[in-house]
Amino acid sequence: MLVKATYTHKPVVPRGAGTWGLGGSVPVKGGYVLDMTAMDKIIDIDKENLVVTAQAGVTWKALSEALDEEGLFLPCYPSSAPSATLGGWIGTGGTGIGAYKYGTAGNIIRDLEVVLPAGHIVHTGDKYVPASGGGPNLTWMFVGSEGVLGVITEVTLSVLPKPEVLRAVAYSFADLSKFTPALRKLSRSDVVPMHVMFGDRAHFEYLRAVGKDAPDVGCMITCTLTGAKDKVDLDEKMLDEIMTSSGASKMPTEVAEHEWSERSYEFRVREMGIGAIPGEILVPIEGFERTLAEARTLVKKMKLKGPIIGSVADRNTIMLMPYYLTDDHNFFRSTAAMGFGKKLGDIAFENGGRPVGLGLFFAGNLTKYRGKDGADLIKRIKKAVDPEGILNPGKLVETGTRFGIPMPAVLMNFGMNMLAGMKRIMPRDKVGEAELSRLRK
Ligand SMILES: Cc1cc2nc3c(=O)[nH]c(=O)nc-3n(C[C@H](O)[C@H](O)[C@H](O)COP(=O)(O)OP(=O)(O)OC[C@H]3O[C@@H](n4cnc5c(N)ncnc54)[C@H](O)[C@@H]3O)c2cc1C
Repeated sequence: MLVKATYTHKPVVPRGAGTWGLGGSVPVKGGYVLDMTAMDKIIDIDKENLVVTAQAGVTWKALSEALDEEGLFLPCYPSSAPSATLGGWIGTGGTGIGAYKYGTAGNIIRDLEVVLPAGHIVHTGDKYVPASGGGPNLTWMFVGSEGVLGVITEVTLSVLPKPEVLRAVAYSFADLSKFTPALRKLSRSDVVPMHVMFGDRAHFEYLRAVGKDAPDVGCMITCTLTGAKDKVDLDEKMLDEIMTSSGASKMPTEVAEHEWSERSYEFRVREMGIGAIPGEILVPIEGFERTLAEARTLVKKMKLKGPIIGSVADRNTIMLMPYYLTDDHNFFRSTAAMGFGKKLGDIAFENGGRPVGLGLFFAGNLTKYRGKDGADLIKRIKKAVDPEGILNPGKLVETGTRFGIPMPAVLMNFGMNMLAGMKRIMPRDKVGEAELSRLRK
């Protein structure tokens, strides 16, 4: 089907809630921003077949609540669920809550309705059968495509019956670096928590500095178990054994439940009135300790304040999200601090992992992700579906500026490295120091 509309030849940029830190929905070459949040209807909840269809601008939280009323359960969603849209999270291909047990958005999609740049409307799958066979899997082509290949308008997802029990349990370790042995045991065990998330000492210290309830521990790991009560009871016992035999102490139930209830509000530190900018990387569990040590060294070298949070994405992969505090009012310092994201991404690549997504700043990493031939293939696909380059230009396959001046990827990378270098020679950041010293008194 072809949408009958005037072809504008001007850039069109799909935008969900604009929560992605990498600026994927910023219109770098002008044109139109397509605000998808107006497409906020849940079209059909098919309880019999455990399938839901909704427009792409529906938020993950709204969908989860609607399913809950029907006795159903959304297997995964980003922690930004209160504002992030279905199309936005699919567009970034990120990982999120529920990923350890159920996978990420791509794993639960049955079908996407997508409008291509020339106006054709395609369906990438089927409502009731998996999209395998019949050629390449078109659904996965749009997962993580960062809005450059098509505009997702409707999403059909597989959902689950609500589990009898959802239970959060938490453990503390002396330091995040001590978590690896427990992780190895967990990934080889029969215990499959829905979600495993963590925060380090600095993260909880900052939360306390803004007056929130947060434990005084070296780091805390919160695991959320789902299933029948007997199974969850057994899983909890096995988890206790895994964690305590690896040096952890079990935290009180109220602490675990509170942490779970706060899962969408990790950045409360912003209540200090400053910016908190996260960098997000995926690394293999085997490379976790080295990555952590190198990320901490980077934070120090760049004179940043850098708490670390994250989650375990699957049995092999850990998602680390160090965030740093920045004074948004100090243009030079906050801009220079952006070089942190680039350097953190480099650390991830060196340790067998990668940053999460490219967005506005890191299109230069596409070749590192896919190799030269893989990157060329993606560029050829883009050219084939969008020969005029109108959909979200300046992202994923190219870097760009609003003045129409092309910015070669190497130049962008060079600029980001320069920013990181500048930050290292600038005076130390003092953001958050007053609050912390009040807390420590
Ligand atoms: C507090 C906080 C927590 C976060 N937690 C997570 C997390 O747990 N996991 C995670 O992966 N990310 C997380 N993020 C990053 C971000 O929230 C997610 O990537 C989010 O899903 C983006 O959704 P959005 O609707 O805001 O999309 P936007 O930021 O508006 O867009 C993201 C990208 O998708 C494209 N896009 C948007 N809508 C469409 C559409 N309909 N069709 C095609 N392309 C589209 C845009 O062009 C852009 O490239 C978090 C961010 C914050 C601020």
